[in-house]
Amino acid sequence: MTAPIIRTRQELREMTNAWHRAGETIGVVPTMGALHDGHLSLVARAKEMSTHVIVTIFVNPKQFNNPDDLANYPRTEHEDARKLERFEVDAIYVPDGAQMYPDGFATNISVSGLTDVLCGAHRAGHFDGVATVVTKLFTQTAADFAFFGEKDFQQLQVVRRLARDLDLGVEVVGCPTIREMDGLAMSSRNLMLSDQARSRASALNEVMEEMADALGQGAAIADLLPDAQARLAAAGFGDIDYLEMRSNDTLTLLERATAPARLFAAVFMAGVRLIDNIDVPLAR
Ligand code: AMP
Repeated sequence: MTAPIIRTRQELREMTNAWHRAGETIGVVPTMGALHDGHLSLVARAKEMSTHVIVTIFVNPKQFNNPDDLANYPRTEHEDARKLERFEVDAIYVPDGAQMYPDGFATNISVSGLTDVLCGAHRAGHFDGVATVVTKLFTQTAADFAFFGEKDFQQLQVVRRLARDLDLGVEVVGCPTIREMDGLAMSSRNLMLSDQARSRASALNEVMEEMADALGQGAAIADLLPDAQARLAAAGFGDIDYLEMRSNDTLTLLERATAPARLFAAVFMAGVRLIDNIDVPLAR
């Protein structure tokens, strides 16, 4: 069954009011479209936890710090709706820019601390854009649950923080990263890679897994970085924005895995910025 595509806040509000009046719950899966199995895993989890599921598709201009990246971002609404058919979601909400940011829009949501590092340090304004749009999507969809991927772990922690800080009444549910067979984390951006760049990109996960193993055995990350950087360069990766270990909850930089931690990377392959993160076992 094709889910109805809703384009206005008013239409959405009529649906969500009726559901809440009936005592039913609403789960939202915010996306920027170009849906892949990573997104669909969030939809499956949402279906398990909520009576009604709304998938949102909005390529949010406020979270892009590079105009070319925004222009090149894949837009595949028709295909996306088809991929969602088997999940029987209740609505696909596809607002346009005027629905989200009407004339005179002047409010900015900014989460401090967590956004100072990693992608926050490399993409000016990115997390303000995310926090602002997510807050609006939560209120517009009247969601009880919201599903986010660990693929964007920093984003997940930022959204958890803002939902708590602003009493949004939404339970934020984190879902594991879904990967391609060769280990590359699924991402809409993978569509921008040539076949050759795509096959080389699997080295990122390989290098990160080996680093995580060594960190779990007590290694210091500084001792692992030269070899990791050389292997990424040999595989064809260009600039590395970051390759760091940080604590799960506060994203504090760690030299050794002395607290629950993840290894985070943002690297360029053929001009496409790929991010990934994996769990690091506590050092023995
Ligand atoms: P995006 O469309 O890239 O903004 O992603 C929408 C949601 O899907 C975010 O919560 C992402 O973290 C999540 N997501 C993207 N890729 C994956 C993946 N490979 N595995 C799990 N979740 C993902």
